[in-house]
Amino acid sequence: MTLLAPLTTAGVGGPARTYVEARSESEIIDAIRSADTAGDPLLIIAGGSNLIIADDGFAGTVVRLASTGFTVNDDNATCGGVMVKAEAGQPWDELVEYTVLHALSGLEALSGIPGSTGATPVQNVGAYGSDVSQTLATVRTWDRETQTVKSFTNFELKFGYRDSLLKRATVNGSPRYVVLTVEFQLALGRMSAPVKYAELAREVGVDIGERAYANDVRRAVLKLRGAKGMVLDPADRDTFSTGSFFTNPIVDEGTAATLPENAPRYPTAEDGQVKLSAAWLIDQAGFGKGFGLAGDDGFAAAGGRASLSTKHTLAVTNRGSASAADLLAIAALVADGVDHRFGIRLHPEPLLIGCAL
Ligand SMILES: Cc1cc2nc3c(=O)[nH]c(=O)nc-3n(C[C@H](O)[C@H](O)[C@H](O)COP(=O)(O)OP(=O)(O)OC[C@H]3O[C@@H](n4cnc5c(N)ncnc54)[C@H](O)[C@@H]3O)c2cc1C
Repeated sequence: MTLLAPLTTAGVGGPARTYVEARSESEIIDAIRSADTAGDPLLIIAGGSNLIIADDGFAGTVVRLASTGFTVNDDNATCGGVMVKAEAGQPWDELVEYTVLHALSGLEALSGIPGSTGATPVQNVGAYGSDVSQTLATVRTWDRETQTVKSFTNFELKFGYRDSLLKRATVNGSPRYVVLTVEFQLALGRMSAPVKYAELAREVGVDIGERAYANDVRRAVLKLRGAKGMVLDPADRDTFSTGSFFTNPIVDEGTAATLPENAPRYPTAEDGQVKLSAAWLIDQAGFGKGFGLAGDDGFAAAGGRASLSTKHTLAVTNRGSASAADLLAIAALVADGVDHRFGIRLHPEPLLIGCAL
């Protein structure tokens, strides 16, 4: 029996009925095919950094993607840049570090994000004004419906904010398309892509829209993320989470107008839609950093086993012995509180497997 909790960064989740570790593309396809042929429910797990798995575990087959490695094709490196192709299970930040150290530009602002490369296109992983849709060229997937290998170009993936066709084709945590390899097209050079995020621009000492050395951008991002508990650190309980538990809500202008004037608002690609800050809403609804830990009166929501991070109100953290139910109890108090105060419903960013908010 394999317990799933140790395979996740939140550290929760009961046992898998069947567990397979797949170390190559053919092992991944074989394992998925066997489960699908047997009609067994399938859960994909790679870095385990975006999953809250129920305490009962998973009554089906769990396939862990452990195919690692990447290749750099600079044979024809010109203005078109360099193609970097990674296996699904390749740890993401190792790839980012390699590209920065080898003067391949474009991924530096995505430094320090846990998890695998194959998962990055699923929710269009992003941070500090950057996301993978800006550099991703193609993905190869295993299509479980047609039982064939299917490739998608960037355009075909229909990326959005923390969204893609791959995510929309995932039902109850089970993806139709399992990413096998991801190919990025990166620019040659030591300079970063234009820095788009004010906090990051300040840290590296450039104006928004300017470039800096990619290595400086990586260092700054790791520093900023570290201060928020957003880089995995076994010694820091604030990092035992899924990162942001809630996505930033996108609302119409009418709803945004009901909020206090100082509520952060960001433009979106769609006319009449505004992106809000989930962290601000949570804080203003009365849930500060560390919410859930014992207060002066000794009361602790979820027994103090789970709480908001003491560094950031967006992360729900496991203080050492939390269950999935404890993490969800904190998240539900926060989501209900924001709804009550502002009439806006927050939606979870991680996949909830066998459990709900
Ligand atoms: C401390 C911390 C900070 C974080 N910061 C950020 C951040 O800044 N930005 C951000 O976007 N995210 C962030 N995250 C969330 C998470 O790291 C990303 O979503 C990451 O891409 C998840 O990868 P994973 O391999 O861990 O996925 P897992 O958690 O192993 O998988 C989750 C689900 O994704 C799908 N999936 C995974 N791999 C594949 C594949 N190859 N093919 C098809 N489906 C697949 C499956 O449905 C799977 O069940 C953070 C998480 C933590 C813990």
